[in-house]
Amino acid sequence: MSKPTSSKEDALSTLALQIVQAASKADCTIQELAQLAAQDPAFAARLLHVVNAPVHGVSRRVADIRQATSLLGVASIQNIALALAVTDLVPVGLAGESLLSIGLRRGCAAQRIAEATKLALPGEAFTTGLLLDVGILRVARQDLEEAVQLARRPALARPTHERLKGHVPHPVSGAQLAKKWFLPDHVAHAISHHHDDEPLDHPLARVAWAAERVASTFEGGDAENLKRSAVSALERLGLSGTDCDAVLAELPALVRDAGSAFQRSVGKQAELDKVLSEASLRLVELNREFQDLLASTNSLLSQKERLIRDLEAANGELARMASTDGLTGVLNRRAFIHGLKANHQRALQERAPLSIILLDVDHFKKVNDTHGHQVGDDVLVAVASHASKAMRTGDIFGRYGGEEFAAVLPRTPVDAASKIAERIRGDVGATTFASEKSRFRVTASFGIAQLNGAESVEQLIARADAALYRAKDGGRDRICHG
Ligand code: GH3
Ligand code: MG
Ligand code: MG
Repeated sequence: MSKPTSSKEDALSTLALQIVQAASKADCTIQELAQLAAQDPAFAARLLHVVNAPVHGVSRRVADIRQATSLLGVASIQNIALALAVTDLVPVGLAGESLLSIGLRRGCAAQRIAEATKLALPGEAFTTGLLLDVGILRVARQDLEEAVQLARRPALARPTHERLKGHVPHPVSGAQLAKKWFLPDHVAHAISHHHDDEPLDHPLARVAWAAERVASTFEGGDAENLKRSAVSALERLGLSGTDCDAVLAELPALVRDAGSAFQRSVGKQAELDKVLSEASLRLVELNREFQDLLASTNSLLSQKERLIRDLEAANGELARMASTDGLTGVLNRRAFIHGLKANHQRALQERAPLSIILLDVDHFKKVNDTHGHQVGDDVLVAVASHASKAMRTGDIFGRYGGEEFAAVLPRTPVDAASKIAERIRGDVGATTFASEKSRFRVTASFGIAQLNGAESVEQLIARADAALYRAKDGGRDRICHG
């Protein structure tokens, strides 16, 4: 949605409008213009100030409008009157400086290009350049701050921002103003097409199109790149590389001169070199910010990796805890049975022998009752440790119940399993324990079974259990085979 604009906001001073209108008639005379200008002595004085500015190259001081008109011609006076009236629309002060600068920059660029290429009358080129961004002044009348923000954006981006903010893009509104102020159609066309990708096929439009690119080199963004497109726009108009460089290099001074001719401040106009080096500093700064960002991203990434490692370690620890007996550190019953089933499966596939040993501490209840539960725990830890030492790679050992342990011995026939059980029995029996009461020893009974054909895990355990029962029954501290 475009914001409505009232015609009052676009009003040039009446006198300026009368001069512009009168001068656009073919039969306009010097006397007529002089008479009009005389109606407002202040305006006439300012007009003369412009005429006498060095830019017009008038050798002696011009004292009145009649003299000025005869020296410069009706068209020039018309242009100056219009330029004065347009600059009057720009508010005075810091905010106005940036708005006035973008206008004068385009005016001066267009005039300079017109002089170098002879494609258009310098005066008309100046006026057209001045009006290229006059649409932004319409915004300024409603919201000065917003117009200043627009003027400070890189030139290429302005029409997009205008659309985003709901304003009529300045090439369109500028052309409307030109028509309203009785300017010829080719001026309005040059304004409405100055942001196009390709210039219109009219000499003034081509000059204005190139002026836009030259001016935008000084107005933020990637200055090196903007300069390249300005040079290529100028080369399209037939200028040599040296001429292109001269246009760009002279522009800041031309803008300053125009400012003083119009008795208006245009602020500092940075030279091309400074614009380019500041833009490259900005790039360096951007690059540094990017590096910082990259570094903090990397540190976040390594932090994330550390967290993942910690999490993996915690998960591993959790898994270990879930499969380990808290007292003895050997596999718990669940993990032992899991390992037993896997080895049972493999033994069936490989048709390899597999033996299991069940181990139960003898009269353990009495150990607890005599020496206390804590000492009983020590006994369990010692028994588990002796048995673990007797295990070979691939063997599995776990706590099967209270004081009962079990081992799976893959690829092991029953007599080899017996030897291992014998070793454990000897080690357990040789260990002396001490309590507050006395020193004592414990014994253990063993039941062994070797996998028989395709019997199940349950059947295998039942046979080992039966053997253990026989060992207990036979007097304990012994090994029986299932
Ligand atoms: P047997 O020779 O017939 O095996 O007799 P036993 O006393 O060893 O057998 P019983 O099954 O009657 O007693 C086992 C005792 O083991 C009972 C229980 O309180 C004790 N026990 C089970 N788990 C633990 C434990 O973690 N620590 C301690 N200190 N004692 C335990
Ligand atoms: Mg027991
Ligand atoms: Mg028992």
